[in-house]
Amino acid sequence: MKSVIIIGAGLGGLAAALRLQHMGFAVTVIEKQKRAGGRSNVLQEHGFRVDIGPTILVMKETFDETYRAIGQDLNRRVKFVPLDPNYRIYYHDGAYIDLFNSMAKLAAECERIEPGVTTRLFRFIGEGAKKYELGMDFVARNYDHITDLANPQAAARLIETGAYQNLYAQAGKFFKTDKLRKAFTFHSMFLGLSPFDALAMYSLITYADLVEGMQYPMGGIYSIVEDMVALAGEMGVTLRTGAPVEEILIDGGRAKGVRLAGGEVVTADIVVSNADLVYTYKELVPASYRRDYTDAKLDKMDYACSGYLLYLGVDKVYPQMRHQALYFSEDYRANLDAIFRTKTLPADPSFHMNNPTITDPSLAPPGHSVLYLLAPMPNLQGNVDWDAAAPLVREKLLQGLERLVDPDVRRHIVWEREYRPADWLDDINAPYGVAFGSLSHGFFQSSYFRPHNVARDIPGLYFVGQGTYPGIGMPMVMLSARLLAERLAKEQT
Ligand SMILES: Cc1cc2nc3c(=O)[nH]c(=O)nc-3n(C[C@H](O)[C@H](O)[C@H](O)COP(=O)(O)OP(=O)(O)OC[C@H]3O[C@@H](n4cnc5c(N)ncnc54)[C@H](O)[C@@H]3O)c2cc1C
Repeated sequence: MKSVIIIGAGLGGLAAALRLQHMGFAVTVIEKQKRAGGRSNVLQEHGFRVDIGPTILVMKETFDETYRAIGQDLNRRVKFVPLDPNYRIYYHDGAYIDLFNSMAKLAAECERIEPGVTTRLFRFIGEGAKKYELGMDFVARNYDHITDLANPQAAARLIETGAYQNLYAQAGKFFKTDKLRKAFTFHSMFLGLSPFDALAMYSLITYADLVEGMQYPMGGIYSIVEDMVALAGEMGVTLRTGAPVEEILIDGGRAKGVRLAGGEVVTADIVVSNADLVYTYKELVPASYRRDYTDAKLDKMDYACSGYLLYLGVDKVYPQMRHQALYFSEDYRANLDAIFRTKTLPADPSFHMNNPTITDPSLAPPGHSVLYLLAPMPNLQGNVDWDAAAPLVREKLLQGLERLVDPDVRRHIVWEREYRPADWLDDINAPYGVAFGSLSHGFFQSSYFRPHNVARDIPGLYFVGQGTYPGIGMPMVMLSARLLAERLAKEQT
């Protein structure tokens, strides 16, 4: 039986551990933090339970498939409820729109904003379906050679759908108002990309979101992590937490194990890193062994954005709120340019607002709510002084809450925590404090061009998670564990 060390117990590390243990490998997961989950972690204090990272679960099938692959049924172990609408979108002028996944209700909402839009909306969704099919062709596979990209049918569809065009510009062909253009392009932010820079291909996420719908696991996203940890224990995976890896040991050119902080050495036949790929190469693999990813090459890559998060416990319930909401600033472009181009503090930040207690009151004491506010921010390649900036952003977010939800909200805050860009760096070793994932999804950092899940210069070293393909976001990370398992089945069994 071959042994595998997985560095990191993020969703990707856990999913890989379950699959590999099921395939007959002896798996040990070594996690730096006290608790598994990585970016999908949780705060539990004073009767409040808050997911600190991801809250939007689309493409749930990727989780279902992970469980099926190991002979389990996720839906028997974790209770899911559908969210409809997926989001409420608030605009600067007080208007709002609910993005339902019932098409008739969605069309009625869009007509309020842009009369006569229904036919164009349905055409947009139809085009999204084609891009989804095309995109999945590139996403759900391992790459070894550039010729793996060659696919005449896909090339024809790329041209037919204009998937290579600019996302925001293409949305402009379907929607006349800025309001609907914003509502149907913001999804690229999930991949760390501004809709003004992203490929139109990424409207496939909008399609998946609208048509497949959004699911909420009772107890929050962390209840999935808890279940994966429980399953790992039942299956015999060894999980060590509070154990930072300091070096990947290489012997005769091959990865042979890891050295932990404190000096302990753990050996294995195969090492898989779920820690950020850029961080892994730079900090855990001695430079003398790195032919393919030198520091200079890694420094030149494009990095995704970060975020400022405010978590509030309030002694009030807000039945008029939706579970998920987004606020778009008036000058959306200036907001996105500040985050992605000038890497400065946005003057009027757009933000995501999550009130999971609408669906799941168990997350707070009776009569209380949890409010999660996430404002995308530049990563630490910019020069923002976060000690000065954090109180300013907090104030903007509270003003937003006062405007959109409750003018008295401050009086009701009984518990509060925040997360700044540097916290992602300190807690999970995210380069430049990137939030959603490190390498953004421009064309040359996607599919074949994204770092592969195998280090060809260091036999025995593999990757899983957002740093390798397919990329950023929970569903992609679930797929990355499947691709890793397929690769190891071919190369190591
Ligand atoms: C604020 C925020 C909101 C998000 N919202 C969404 C959303 O709504 N929907 C969605 O799908 N996605 C969302 N994402 C993205 C999603 O959370 C990530 O893409 C995904 O969880 C990444 O999983 P992963 O397994 O690749 O790695 P990670 O979660 O990054 O896990 C890596 C693990 O490696 C560990 N590690 C690092 N270095 C070492 C070391 N030296 N030794 C041992 N362990 C180490 C870390 O501690 C961590 O536990 C969000 C992310 C954030 C931060």
